[in-house]
Amino acid sequence: MHEIAMVNDVFRIILGVAAGNRISRIDTVNVVIGEYLQVKPSLFEFAFVAAREGTIASEAKLNLEVRPVSLQCLVCGHRFLLKETRYECPQCLGIKLDIVDGKDMFVKSIEGEQADS
Ligand SMILES: [Zn+2]
Repeated sequence: MHEIAMVNDVFRIILGVAAGNRISRIDTVNVVIGEYLQVKPSLFEFAFVAAREGTIASEAKLNLEVRPVSLQCLVCGHRFLLKETRYECPQCLGIKLDIVDGKDMFVKSIEGEQADS
């Protein structure tokens, strides 16, 4: 269950961003997750709800955007989306492939309220 570690990363990032921008309350957290990471959104959400407790994001809503895995063939250069588990170029049947999208997790943005100066 790597979702907990990932959610801990998310909190390290968003609390750091909030501190650097004098955000006193985080309302929304937008996270992008590559399908390659095989995250279960329900587990991620569960870990998020546990982690937000007692922080300035205690009421925050989580928006998860799952990105499909995008591959590029190193032989012919063709780009395509990974379907099921076939690691094969549909154009030249090459198996030398590079993952060009959908393998990372990152915080896209957060929304919240800034502290009065
Ligand atoms: Zn190819």
